[in-house]
Amino acid sequence: MATYVFRCPDCTVFEVVIPMSALRPTHPCPTCAGESRRVWTAPALATTPGALHRAVAAADASAEAPQVVRSIPAGRPRPRSRRWSPVTGAAPVNAAHRPAGPHPALPRW
Ligand SMILES: [Zn+2]
Repeated sequence: MATYVFRCPDCTVFEVVIPMSALRPTHPCPTCAGESRRVWTAPALATTPGALHRAVAAADASAEAPQVVRSIPAGRPRPRSRRWSPVTGAAPVNAAHRPAGPHPALPRW
């Protein structure tokens, strides 16, 4: 699917998302059904990261037709904390190697 721009001589410029195989030199105007000619534009060759593309598409879809949510959507499990836990008893990794007293004096040159 690709986005093509057409200009209706009586109305305005509009975009159409159609397969490349379905592209014709003219396209019917969505407002007046008049024959509209294609407008040549710069190709969109910049690659958008997939996650960003999906986020923008979701934001656009939400702006047009927001979904009603009745419960909190399930998300990814949160990463386990590396802090000490009364359940796991795991101490921070560096605590085992930390000296008990104040840090040693810096060497004098
Ligand atoms: Zn038109």
